[in-house]
Amino acid sequence: MSEQSRSGEKILRGIPVSGGVCRAKTVVLGKAREAIPRHEIAEASLPQEIQRLEHALTQTRQQILEVQRKVSEAMGAKDATIFEAHLLVLEDPTLIAEVTRVIQEQKINVEYAFQQVAEKYAATLSSMDDEYLRERAADMRDVTARVLDNLLGWTDETDLRKLKEPCIIISFDLAPSTTALLDRNRVLGFATDAGSKTSHTAIMARSLQIPAVVGLHDASRQLKSGQYVLLDGYNGLLIVNPTDQTLFEYGQLVRKRVNLQEKLRDIREEPAVTLDGVRVTLSANIEQASDAEHVRACGAEGVGLFRTEYLYLNRETLPTEEEQYQAYRQVAAALRPHPVVVRTLDLGGDKFISHLWMPQELNPFLGWRAIRFCLQERDLFRIQLRAILRAAVEGNIKMMYPMISGVDELNQANALVEECRAGLQTEKIAFGDSLEIGAMIEIPSAVLTADALAKRVKFLSVGTNDLIQYSLAVDRLNEKIAHLYEPTHPAIVRLIKATVEAGHRAGIWVGVCGEMAGDPVLVPLLLGLGVDELSAAVSAVPQVKFLIRRLKLDEARELAEFALNCESGLEILTRSQALARRIAPGLFENQS
Ligand code: PEP
Ligand code: MG
Repeated sequence: MSEQSRSGEKILRGIPVSGGVCRAKTVVLGKAREAIPRHEIAEASLPQEIQRLEHALTQTRQQILEVQRKVSEAMGAKDATIFEAHLLVLEDPTLIAEVTRVIQEQKINVEYAFQQVAEKYAATLSSMDDEYLRERAADMRDVTARVLDNLLGWTDETDLRKLKEPCIIISFDLAPSTTALLDRNRVLGFATDAGSKTSHTAIMARSLQIPAVVGLHDASRQLKSGQYVLLDGYNGLLIVNPTDQTLFEYGQLVRKRVNLQEKLRDIREEPAVTLDGVRVTLSANIEQASDAEHVRACGAEGVGLFRTEYLYLNRETLPTEEEQYQAYRQVAAALRPHPVVVRTLDLGGDKFISHLWMPQELNPFLGWRAIRFCLQERDLFRIQLRAILRAAVEGNIKMMYPMISGVDELNQANALVEECRAGLQTEKIAFGDSLEIGAMIEIPSAVLTADALAKRVKFLSVGTNDLIQYSLAVDRLNEKIAHLYEPTHPAIVRLIKATVEAGHRAGIWVGVCGEMAGDPVLVPLLLGLGVDELSAAVSAVPQVKFLIRRLKLDEARELAEFALNCESGLEILTRSQALARRIAPGLFENQS
């Protein structure tokens, strides 16, 4: 959505995902991959079209050789051999002959012909039983994308690491791994066409405290690099050519925000205790070991979710046991005696590592992800489990598994932990003997079997980001259906309640570490439902604490009672907002 005023100011509205206001010139990154155009080609021009194919293949070959050379220099010749397969695709005579034939027979443009033929090959390869051949499908798609980029001139000129001036990035989408690399001194904020509040890119933006707006639909097409914009991460606005009046109003908003920050700082060392004296465990979510320093600074009591997959991203090799041990140990030692819940590797979904073969999937969030991946890639999983077990000597480490769907996976994971314990014992390497293990509750099947899961673990932690996506069948990345992603849906309220009850029946604590726990509007509902621990983004912890300290648990219970008997998600949300705004109006002053 956009609005244009007479002054030339234009407002684009998206989804606010990371608070803050910034102003700068834009840097617009590569456009979305559009549908490949198909056009007819006149008979006389067909030789030219075939020449374009040859040129694109040569150009791609040169690019791959260059990448291969760099990788070989950096990591040795062995790692660079993966590109041999890419080069072979470019030289495949059958592929080239078929593309040429399609161009000549159908009299169509080369990019369309190339994509059609290459995709047919890739689809055939992906359906093979032979693993080696299936891997070639990924090579085929990789090379096809490069060839098409060359044919269509879709190259991304901007290297985010080479930005010279502070700017606001505008892009179709950003991978979580790319977001993790953003330099906060150069990238003041970012805005994307795609995405939603609980995409890992949005979560990373909050973690880095970079203002961000997503779900802007076509901002990357509307804008050019070098335009002056204001980004309002509180309300989800991207304002192009802001007027003096707008800048003045935002100056006031920023001042109010500074005042609020001061109030929040005052209670940093205070406990998260309700007005009627109930103590709530308030922890922080972190993505990297270096975030540990922010955990203390934000006033959290420890870490309720350490997303360890970021240790694996943006690199060419897997992290070793020693490296992981050092990372976990560092966080545990920095926060001792407070707990640090290390979540085992959650790759897949929207987080991938390029050098480890992970096939392209039609539904990656329903696919080879998290514990499913780890239970198949056991060597890789064992390395992480050993590192966590060893680091547990240094502090109060707990561990939890993501995306558990039922008892069988939990048993298998626990058996691997036992195996690692036994191995460390034999090797006489110290490890945390009493490390507590928990399960994340992110799938409806886990809620329905929570009684059985609870018997086998020491705590449950509800991952509402995924629980909502899987229960309501709403892809958490898709901005087109973001309005259906409804944390206050009666089904979600009941699923959380059922989890809490199952946990409490088994005598264990139940936390929430999804983004709901960092939303002051939803915190009373969670506490009213009986949740024992909340783990929120570092940037959200101060507000959550502020709200808890103004809340009476009785009011929260009343709200939860209402929600459990209510049929409308909107009504539950309205009631939750009314309570939060009444008890902590100062938190909502930045919202338009
Ligand atoms: C969740 O799903 O709520 C969660 C905390 O895990 P992630 O966001 O990393 O999937
Ligand atoms: Mg999750």
